[in-house]
Amino acid sequence: MTTRTMRALGYFPREGMVRPVELPMESPQEDEVLVRISRVAVSRRDRDLMQDPKAETPAGSDFIVPGHIAVGKVEQVGSLVRDFVPGDLVVPTVRYDCNRCIDARSDLCPYPEYYSDAGLRRAHGFAREYLVTRARYLIGVPSHLEQLALLLTPLSRAEKAHEEAVQVMKRFNFFCYHQPEEYMPSALIAGMGIVGIMTAFLLSLYNYRLTIFCRREADDSRSGVLRPLDLEYINTQWVSTKKLEKCGCCFNQLFETTGDPEFAFKLFPLLTSNSVAVLMDAPAGLSRELEVDIEAGKLIARMVHCNQVILGSIKAGREAFESGVRHLTELADLYHEPLMSLFTHSVPFEKFQDVLDLDSRDAVFPVLEME
Ligand SMILES: [Zn+2]
Repeated sequence: MTTRTMRALGYFPREGMVRPVELPMESPQEDEVLVRISRVAVSRRDRDLMQDPKAETPAGSDFIVPGHIAVGKVEQVGSLVRDFVPGDLVVPTVRYDCNRCIDARSDLCPYPEYYSDAGLRRAHGFAREYLVTRARYLIGVPSHLEQLALLLTPLSRAEKAHEEAVQVMKRFNFFCYHQPEEYMPSALIAGMGIVGIMTAFLLSLYNYRLTIFCRREADDSRSGVLRPLDLEYINTQWVSTKKLEKCGCCFNQLFETTGDPEFAFKLFPLLTSNSVAVLMDAPAGLSRELEVDIEAGKLIARMVHCNQVILGSIKAGREAFESGVRHLTELADLYHEPLMSLFTHSVPFEKFQDVLDLDSRDAVFPVLEME
């Protein structure tokens, strides 16, 4: 008997190589769904993984299928699946639950040995023709969002970070008569990777005075995308954070998406009283080993005197994906063209090497076409 197989990409950490592999075709069990993957986006996180000699492969495999951001269509459903029918557009979530966290909040599970992340850690990702997965790991997306659906995964990161910041800010639910009448809460987004950009789009739907920090010229493709938004753009290549601090530039919320520890520490002095900083990306590669001189005494004194919170946020749970679908619908109405321009490159699966060779400064959100 011959086993049917499908094409996929494999990253072999021991060899440091990415190459096509064959995976067995599976049939969906009763609570599972067979999805034809149509497109996979390649983010900075995926590129980091495909250069990481310590990448964790699934048990029994010497490679991991990369890709944690994908969209596809349902082809077949198991007998117990009620939420999907063939033809539905779906985006897979990233984390596979530990199966013991209440309300499936495995995005907050403290036991990493019991959960895995598709395409990132101990589970194959989505750079493959087909995916068989449990229905609970799929998010239904309305068909009119098909072109933008790949933005849902980075948007879900922004949804989770913003929700956590809002929870912390609830303690600021009082009024001081020293507050100017025109008071409007301010938010700073640091970094213009796809997560930073989607955080800016999400926050534009709320009532914030928005600022984005980036080390790029204002006229390149990324900053151009944000031009329709009402936000202040500061190129920190030319204006130092020290100077901004002296000018009294300060924020109620900070969303740090660069994963650069040195940069993050420079931003903390820009936080106001009762503020919250959300760190949304972990240092990778050499930055993980980086030692930074910090004014620890001043930092802790400021945190205590000003009731500040610094928190880390990674991987979104199902609720964040679901609120992402609602907000993506709003954003698609307002900013369809700028959002489409984030897909800077579209490459057929066979030419995957072209995506890996792209200069990450030009490639905002390149896509592998799997069909
Ligand atoms: Zn758990």
